[in-house]
Amino acid sequence: MTREVGESPAEGDTPSPEYRHLYVHVPYCARRCSYCDFAIAVRRVVPWEAFARRVAGELARRVGAPLAAPLATVYLGGGTPSRLGPDGVAALCAVLRQAGAWAPGAEVTLEANPEDVTPEAVAAWARAGVNRVSLGVQSFSPVLLQWMHRVHDVEASVRAARLVRAGGIASLSVDLIFATPAPLARDWEAEVGGLLGLEPDHVSLYGLTIEERTPVARWQARGAVDPASEERYADEFLWLHERLEGGGFVHYEVSNYGRPGHRARHNSAYWQGVPYLGVGPSAHGFDGSSRRWNLSAVTAWERAVDEGQDPVAGSERLTAGNREAEAVYLGLRTVDGLPVRPDEEGLVGRWIAAGWMVPIPSVGGGAGRVRCTPEGWLRLDALAADLTAVRSRW
Ligand code: SF4
Repeated sequence: MTREVGESPAEGDTPSPEYRHLYVHVPYCARRCSYCDFAIAVRRVVPWEAFARRVAGELARRVGAPLAAPLATVYLGGGTPSRLGPDGVAALCAVLRQAGAWAPGAEVTLEANPEDVTPEAVAAWARAGVNRVSLGVQSFSPVLLQWMHRVHDVEASVRAARLVRAGGIASLSVDLIFATPAPLARDWEAEVGGLLGLEPDHVSLYGLTIEERTPVARWQARGAVDPASEERYADEFLWLHERLEGGGFVHYEVSNYGRPGHRARHNSAYWQGVPYLGVGPSAHGFDGSSRRWNLSAVTAWERAVDEGQDPVAGSERLTAGNREAEAVYLGLRTVDGLPVRPDEEGLVGRWIAAGWMVPIPSVGGGAGRVRCTPEGWLRLDALAADLTAVRSRW
């Protein structure tokens, strides 16, 4: 990839893309979880007014006049956006509506941690337009929640899910982490029982990876924890897949499960490769030809915005090869799959025989498509690299 670090993609030089999707990174957290290396700021008192003002400042600099087309999705991620509190979420949503109208039926997601969910907060979120809450539950094991340095306990997750429902939020997503290191034991029947007991519409399932400069990495360095083996990672992933599909969910993307009508529309936009705006520290954006990413240190982002600068940290213009590689990777991530070209049929046929892919019946006689099976998703990076290598020879 060609990379022009420090230089903003040529906004102004090229026609403004039609952004229909907006991501805001809200960096505040109550404390840092043991496995987390995200761009966050631990704050006891969250400066929500200053944050909303700075988001307004970044949007004004980046898009100027209100967006031409109404937004189809808005995603408040983090960090912990629910730490903004009822007033902070309302203020932030008001700022976002000034930058661009929200389409009727727009999907508006707020990531929330269970300890922040109160009847007053849910009512304020709903009034502000939030219609989807993604709840950071992660586990139903009290021991594991403590090990993760999470603030909430199991009861808080149950209470939060009930309040989100009672508050009229249309869609509830729950995050769960698997492949946690040994010697932490998981009772997977209890975990899945707890998860299904919340009656979520959507589940995001993440395998834990040990990132540098996190407490878990330090515990690993001194021999206190062992990463999950590849075999255990695969066993847990496949077992969870079976249980969730048995519970009425469709495994529609490598990490995501939805009940009918509850696929994440915002994330689906990423997987379809369409333009999206990203604001806030460390946020990424895509204008249809270039990617950009913001300064990740919260104070550096704040300073840049306060000084009227673009808080961009870097950008890259995608070459035709980049786009092809990305189309393969993104295509293989979801059940929508990928069209197979004639000279790939031998390779893909071997993957089908191995049980890593299945054909998708073609409609109207078009090119045949394939999609990964769960066993294929366990090999996603390798399969995407092999297919990209074939395509690069054209
Ligand atoms: S709440 Fe989320 S973003 Fe914040 S420290 Fe924990 S894992 Fe990281």
